[in-house]
Amino acid sequence: MSGSAEETRAPLPTARELLARHGLSPKKSLGQNFLVDTRVQERIVAAAALSAEDVVVEIGAGLGALTTRLLGRAGNLIAIERDARLAEILRVELGAAPNLRIVEGDALEFDLTAAARAAGRPLVVVGNLPYVVTSPVIFATLAAAAGGRAVDRAIFMVQKEFAQRMLSPPGGRAYGRLSVMVQQAALAEILFHVGAGAFLPPPAVTSTVVRLRPREQPLGEVSDGNLFALVVREAFGTRRKMLRRALEPAFGSGRALAALAAAGIDPTRRAEELSVADFARLAKALAHA
Ligand code: SAM
Repeated sequence: MSGSAEETRAPLPTARELLARHGLSPKKSLGQNFLVDTRVQERIVAAAALSAEDVVVEIGAGLGALTTRLLGRAGNLIAIERDARLAEILRVELGAAPNLRIVEGDALEFDLTAAARAAGRPLVVVGNLPYVVTSPVIFATLAAAAGGRAVDRAIFMVQKEFAQRMLSPPGGRAYGRLSVMVQQAALAEILFHVGAGAFLPPPAVTSTVVRLRPREQPLGEVSDGNLFALVVREAFGTRRKMLRRALEPAFGSGRALAALAAAGIDPTRRAEELSVADFARLAKALAHA
């Protein structure tokens, strides 16, 4: 099915109108800051560079601001929304579109790999992400991309500080587990920043739109992705500690020291000083230590 519903669909009422009509107010606990700036909506959808073959998964469709624009460009769209009140509005306003499937539920329980298999192609994932689940959504997206080649690209709006952590190089204050895991699995770019005035209600922070393109091969060569993830987690678990101490609880002192030596990493260094390639070498050495 293609997105030909666009020409016949009436424009969606504004977020303010929809909330008033249904007697609703935004839920802070679900990160409901609705994007009301139409130019920003358009820029996000343009960044997805969609064609009629694309199958898009939208995380947190809300009142449909991005949904309605995505519908006109994508072949098919799966819109996930956790808030039953908003899912009902989406069904009423957009449910007639032949290329839209509305999933009422938690995006973290949605199986991207199965959806890509059913679609017969890797997905495009888009979302003005609720800040409460930003990290797990990004980790799930990267895992689906790595394991099953289920995701071709993702366009996410996140808090600016979160985007900076994703892209931070080693040594910086923002560099941490998120930076290593994202950079290992994907090419991440900051596309543009969005001020609080673009949202209803305005959040306390600036937002940033990022694009993730999962790598065909991880940046650092590893034989065991789970071990890599464990090493990174343990190393940053106590980021102020020297690596030999930080790795000791999970791997034991002897094994940690042997692996650090085999990887050519000074055991007195700290996690925040290691590059992604260093972590990969360390994980490989631990697999054999
Ligand atoms: N896409 C809309 C927009 O841009 O205006 C809404 C974005 S709002 C920042 C985040 C949306 O995600 C809200 O509608 C919220 O109810 C929804 N949400 C929160 N947690 C969710 C979850 N775990 N799974 C799916 N949707 C969720």
